[in-house]
Amino acid sequence: MLIIGPPGSGKGTQAERISERLGVVAISTGDIFRAHVKGGTPLGVEATRYMDAGDFVPDSVTNEMVRNRLSQDDAGNGFVLDGYPRTVAQVDYLDAILAAGEQELGVVLQLTADDAELVSRLLGRARETGRSDDNESVIRHRLDLYHQQTEAVVARYAGRGILAQVDGIGGIDDVTDRVLACIGNVLGAPVDGR
Ligand code: AMP
Repeated sequence: MLIIGPPGSGKGTQAERISERLGVVAISTGDIFRAHVKGGTPLGVEATRYMDAGDFVPDSVTNEMVRNRLSQDDAGNGFVLDGYPRTVAQVDYLDAILAAGEQELGVVLQLTADDAELVSRLLGRARETGRSDDNESVIRHRLDLYHQQTEAVVARYAGRGILAQVDGIGGIDDVTDRVLACIGNVLGAPVDGR
């Protein structure tokens, strides 16, 4: 499955929880990029200037990285992919990867939240973690990109009838419960509760 949401919607947290519940690996493109930046790899050096500006890392870098990651053994039984695709071109690329591996998307989960709430959450996170892309002008740019590009991704999956939309505002456990119920509805079978 995929998890899509604006920056600050809690998609990373929910992706980890869902992956535990479904027994499949959680893969976050943002985390992979941050690991490369930390390790000072050539990919990290390339990605960092885009990330710090709140821009998307170019598809030429991102697509290949995702293809490699999804080809690893632990993704063979399924995965929760967080942060990809973010553009319609990436949707096409992911379709090709999945078709080649004879895999199919089960659910695309969108976490929703309004911009004012997101900005205040992200400014709070910036104070706690010092993430270099969590200052106000970069935050607003990342939100703009989400509206301009990633909402079209959501529309694509809605057209395929596999979209589950969940309100991301509220306590972490409450959101997880809503998410699991919603995934169960799309899959047509309940996802085990705690
Ligand atoms: P995230 O942790 O998902 O908010 O991602 C952090 C940053 O990594 C983004 O602001 C982008 O610069 C980059 N990034 C993550 N996923 C993608 C993607 N699918 N396409 C392009 N850039 C990405």
